[in-house]
Amino acid sequence: MTFKAAWHPKKSSANRFRDDAGANPGACAARNQQFLSYFLFRYGQHRSPPLGCIFIAIAAAVGIGALVHHAASEAAITVRLALSIAAGVAGFAAVCRKLGSDYAQQCAAVALASGLLSSNRDCLKLLSADGKMLWVSEHGATLMEAESPEQLAGADWLNFWSADDRTAAENACSGALAGKRTSFTGVCATTKGRKKWWNSTLSPVTGKDGTVVALLCASEDVTQQCELLKTLRERDELMHEMESHVRLVFYSYSPDFERFHHVSAGVERVFGITPTELSRRPSAWLELELPEDLEPLRAEMRRIASEAAEGRFEYRIRRPDGCLCWIRSTAYPVRDESGDLVRIVGVSEDITLEQERLEALDRLAYTDGLTGLANRSALVRRMKTLCRQNVPFGLMFIDLDRFKVLNDTLGHTAADRLLKDIAEVIQGALPADACIARLGGDEFAVIISGETDKDTLATLAQSLLGVFSSDVRKANAEPFVTASIGISLFPEHGRDHEALLKSADIAMYGAKKGGRNGFRFADQASSDVLGDFELERSLPKALASEQFVLHFQGIHEPASLAVKGVEALLRWNHPTRGMVGPCSFIPILEASGFIVEVGAWVMDAALAQLAVWRTAGKKGLCISVNVSARQLRDDTIVAVVDEALRKHQLPPRCLEIELTETALMENPSLAQKTLQALKRLGVRIAIDDFGTGYSSLRYLADFSPDTVKIDRSFTARLGCDAATASIVRGIIQMSHELGMKVTAEGVETEKQLHALRDASCDHVQGYFLTKPTNAEDLVDACRSLVMHGQTSVSSFAADGQD
Ligand code: C2E
Ligand code: MG
Ligand code: MG
Repeated sequence: MTFKAAWHPKKSSANRFRDDAGANPGACAARNQQFLSYFLFRYGQHRSPPLGCIFIAIAAAVGIGALVHHAASEAAITVRLALSIAAGVAGFAAVCRKLGSDYAQQCAAVALASGLLSSNRDCLKLLSADGKMLWVSEHGATLMEAESPEQLAGADWLNFWSADDRTAAENACSGALAGKRTSFTGVCATTKGRKKWWNSTLSPVTGKDGTVVALLCASEDVTQQCELLKTLRERDELMHEMESHVRLVFYSYSPDFERFHHVSAGVERVFGITPTELSRRPSAWLELELPEDLEPLRAEMRRIASEAAEGRFEYRIRRPDGCLCWIRSTAYPVRDESGDLVRIVGVSEDITLEQERLEALDRLAYTDGLTGLANRSALVRRMKTLCRQNVPFGLMFIDLDRFKVLNDTLGHTAADRLLKDIAEVIQGALPADACIARLGGDEFAVIISGETDKDTLATLAQSLLGVFSSDVRKANAEPFVTASIGISLFPEHGRDHEALLKSADIAMYGAKKGGRNGFRFADQASSDVLGDFELERSLPKALASEQFVLHFQGIHEPASLAVKGVEALLRWNHPTRGMVGPCSFIPILEASGFIVEVGAWVMDAALAQLAVWRTAGKKGLCISVNVSARQLRDDTIVAVVDEALRKHQLPPRCLEIELTETALMENPSLAQKTLQALKRLGVRIAIDDFGTGYSSLRYLADFSPDTVKIDRSFTARLGCDAATASIVRGIIQMSHELGMKVTAEGVETEKQLHALRDASCDHVQGYFLTKPTNAEDLVDACRSLVMHGQTSVSSFAADGQD
């Protein structure tokens, strides 16, 4: 009889077990348990029968022996004896057979059970009703890090559990003892003290009478899973903490932006909406959007979804609590292995503070610190926007007239106050939507959009000029401020800010040339000013980059043609225009006030050259330096001259300062004072271009110059016009009577030279003798004058009286 048959004679339970196992693993486990219960029950039941059978056999044998012994005395009962013996033998045989069969059955069961137990990966234990470990599987011992199952046998199973889990273990035990299958998860240390997580299931093992005689405990080592879970949980908690404390929202959106997979807790801080609300109504956050920001945001979302491209957008929301916030959202598309867009993840952050800081910086960067008006950058930015949007507008370029003089006379603090007042005047006189900027110094610019026809702009400019001078005068009592305004129109005078600024600037320059305190529209005619305008723009750096040079022209004695002196004449060696004559830029230098600095340089450079010549032996040589009206007004001129003379260790008499009549007449009393101071230094004074200005002989008496320089227009007519000859003779004669020397300019012919010589002119100057040239060439020119037999080398180097 096989084990299968013995276990279930009618049907192969092992087969059934196998069949069911294949069909349903859960049921299979239950049957395993059933089977083991059955097995252990049988095992427990058959442990005693072999002893009983042996006892019966022994009893039978003893009985037979007693019968044999009894037969000797009672022969009559032979048949009963024989039957008794037969019964005894049969009983013995039956017992022996039974013993053999049960033993084989047990061996098979043990083999099967041990096979099943050893293949089980759990820690299997058989617990006594009082919780002692009767038996532990080999693998169970390994899981418990015991040397062998025996090490654990007899130990109290409940003692292994940590304090926290002991109650659960006890409950599971009592449940199983009550006949239920119980389970729990808890931590119990191995024999080596290493804590492990176990998932334990306790099944009751019932005896024949149905009472629970033992418990089968299967503990699955779930330490790895538990630790993994713990790590995940911790990570989750960390994420949650971080998410709920930062002003950031982490989100995962469906690829069509229709629903959220996840929105972090920060959404409540940033948007004022709960994650639950968002998962219910995924568009709730879009409803907070400011209307003007909504469409661009939606467009960007559509682009991200259709192109599966990264995106970043900034927008404003009005939170449910009424706060206006700036949000920056970044979105990153996530694709699966086949390249399909599976979700869009990203971060949204509250950038309100950042925006406020940027706005503050922006204000700082685009505001003029003195007046609080917009600055040049702001103006350019506005113009760029209008040009881009193709919105017609007018640009007024306002430059205060003679502000430099005001600045110099008022002092910087008062001038700054004046500029502030002017800014207010401009603001008050123009429409509220006009963009008014201070470009720097005394330059302002205004953008007028909307009504931009020329008539409107002309009216505005005119009223500005009117209000301007009167208002500023009221506010500042003394200075009378006027301005020159240039106006350009978009798109008529340029399609970009640079062209418009330039044409308005040129127009303004035109207004200045036209007498100041006026306005001009940019037009073609104003382009002729462009030459001057460009020069003016590059003037400030011309001095620093040493673009100015001096040329010298000889002043000769008419008879010997000996060089008595030289006149220093300024030239601008322009990087693109070449050598530019003084008539093109001296007026600009004067208008801008730069002549003061340039004039100081001229004085220094001229005296430096004279010092070189004088050191080289031309001891009596003098130099004439031109000084403009603007320089004469500047109270530094005397100091400049004095310093240059001292620096180059030159006697003052070797310097002659040439002033035009016009310069002297601009402010006669100031000129008189300056002249007196210069004269006190010992410097000589010449009236230049005599005859072209007022030609008032009275001024000759008033200013009592040392030299009168007859303008070349007279010289030019000397040989052909008798009247001019008499005038020239008259000037020379009268000047001599006043104790002045006379120099005739512009001598171009020998005839002119002879006429002047005959008229007792003291000195002559002109192309016929020497042309203005650099210092070295002038010496060569004088030599060639010698070679032509007109003078001698020594004439240039002649010693003379200082
Ligand atoms: P200016 O002081 O009357 O100088 C004489 C001008 O006549 C010079 O012109 C000279 O080149 C020119 N000239 C000399 N001989 C002849 C001649 O035979 N024929 C003709 N047609 N012209 C002759 P330039 O150098 O162009 O100077 C023009 C004016 O510029 C000067 O007139 C002077 O008023 C002014 N200037 C020159 N250098 C300076 C300077 O350093 N400072 C100031 N403030 N003005 C200067
Ligand atoms: Mg001169
Ligand atoms: Mg002259």
